[in-house]
Amino acid sequence: MNTQDPPEDRDGFRFRGGSNAIDLPATLQARLSPAPRELLGVPEDLARWLVSAGMAAETPQVTDGDLTTARALREAIYTLAGRQGGAETEAARETLNEIAAGLPAQPRLRSDGTVTLAGSAGALLVTLAREAVQLFGSDAAKSIRQCRSPTCTLYFIDTSRQGDRRWCSMAACGNKAKAAGFRRRKRASVKPAKRK
Ligand SMILES: [Zn+2]
Repeated sequence: MNTQDPPEDRDGFRFRGGSNAIDLPATLQARLSPAPRELLGVPEDLARWLVSAGMAAETPQVTDGDLTTARALREAIYTLAGRQGGAETEAARETLNEIAAGLPAQPRLRSDGTVTLAGSAGALLVTLAREAVQLFGSDAAKSIRQCRSPTCTLYFIDTSRQGDRRWCSMAACGNKAKAAGFRRRKRASVKPAKRK
């Protein structure tokens, strides 16, 4: 990471996990609630996400097929991050490998020492799938954790030295949990002490 990391929440999307691949599942918000919120509702949403993720320098053309692929990739990554095993995980692995087998975007080194990706939205999704393959196939996979907030389902790669990161975002879920704990303790302290 460089010293000028972009903010973790950008353009209505969350990029808290430490890799674009692990951040893709965040595009289905409140996924365990009765009313999840789809952030990739139309192709333009995916185009925006690809720009926000830093994968596309300019807004790419996105087809309905790309959108379907992105959602399939997203759910495969979410399932694999959960490491549950079983048939669902097997299906997710196959989906991921299928998408990763496509033609990826071309990385290009620019004169300023940064890299851009040249290719269609479909190619960028292949690149993203390959990033996920590399992630799940590496030691970093052991550091994938899910946010401890009971209402948050986001995954992140725990790169803390102690390996004890608990929240997808200290500024969001971490502070919310701290505030809730403070309110609980305050309530408890104003109650008359019960005799045991
Ligand atoms: Zn969280």
